[in-house]
Amino acid sequence: MDHIPYGRQSIIEEDIQSVIEVLQSDWLTQGPRISQFEKEIARYCHATEAIAVTNATAALHLACLALNVGSKDIVWTTPNTFLASANCARFCGADVDFVDICPNTYNMSADALKEKLKIAKKNNTLPKVVIPVHFAGQSCDMRAIKELSTEYNFKIIEDASHAIGGRYIDMPVGSCQYSDITVFSFHPVKIMTTGEGGAALTNDAALANKIRLLRSHGMTRDESCMLNPSDGAWYYEQITLGYNYRITDLQCALGLNQLNRIDEFVKKRHELVAVYQKELAQLPLILPYQHPETYSAFHLYVIQVDNKKTTKTRKALFDYLRNANIGVNVHYIPVHLQPYYQRLGFKEGDFSVAESYYQQAITLPLYYNLSAEQQDHVIASVKKGLA
Ligand SMILES: *Cc1c(COP(=O)(O)O)cnc(C)c1O
Repeated sequence: MDHIPYGRQSIIEEDIQSVIEVLQSDWLTQGPRISQFEKEIARYCHATEAIAVTNATAALHLACLALNVGSKDIVWTTPNTFLASANCARFCGADVDFVDICPNTYNMSADALKEKLKIAKKNNTLPKVVIPVHFAGQSCDMRAIKELSTEYNFKIIEDASHAIGGRYIDMPVGSCQYSDITVFSFHPVKIMTTGEGGAALTNDAALANKIRLLRSHGMTRDESCMLNPSDGAWYYEQITLGYNYRITDLQCALGLNQLNRIDEFVKKRHELVAVYQKELAQLPLILPYQHPETYSAFHLYVIQVDNKKTTKTRKALFDYLRNANIGVNVHYIPVHLQPYYQRLGFKEGDFSVAESYYQQAITLPLYYNLSAEQQDHVIASVKKGLA
């Protein structure tokens, strides 16, 4: 059997045609596809504004900047995430701290957050921004986090890089009902793709304008935003320090097509997950728990080797599956254990739930084009690897 990756894109003929059309048009970048894509994402998510950018890392950086994160501030996120959820605060010079995860959902624990906030209040180390991450595509307990944000006065950026197409209490993830800004990633291993790409969503027009300005050098051609009278039709002003985080029309043409298929993508992921849940149920594994208030986008399907029920180690099963040509992966090495973060003072034992989860976790292949035959091979290999 050919190599089976843990995730990959699904590209159809219409996707290809839509990109070719842009190549034959007047604009390769900063043309009509970008604002169309933004409008469609916002509409799909029931948010008022979406700003598309080069990638989710850039979107997280701009989200922090828009919320005025700076060198005197503290930002909290989860250790069970990709590096970018923490790095975005470091880009702004802020200190980063982490909140341990819930042992069932592997998301930031609202209880741990509450306890940590109580202590931080006493120590005068409250966070300016908290970045919950919807791990594997399942929403965090946003209602509880939002309540705490009112009590302790912090802003919320949802890192929904795994979660476009998911839902939380009858609203699409991205609605920003319980947050200031939500960020998506359109990297090819995620739910839908633009090649590289990301977006920030918000219901706050002032935040959206700030993110748009910072996306392109901090410059404006809008006279109402200028500090001086315009010299003429050529005139633009740089009114703050920004970046070039622009996405292209080529990418957004692809994104528009992919967005049309998002519900189909997520539905297929649920079907594949149902097969895994059924076929793996009798094995010494801990299978992913789904909270009844969420509908996951299922970016990832993570199993844990249950070391109370088997002497097989995670590493042994992982190596067995890799040898069977299955591109299993591990999500995530806790961010605070990275050498860079250890140099900032974090150490083993700081976030024990995330650490013990990490010791047992394996991500199995899950993507739209995973065939029944391929999935059977994965399931049979897991069974053999645990035998
Ligand atoms: C993929 C990912 C990112 C970064 O996304 P890019 O688009 O590659 O920059 C950030 N956070 C999480 C949780 C991710 O999985």
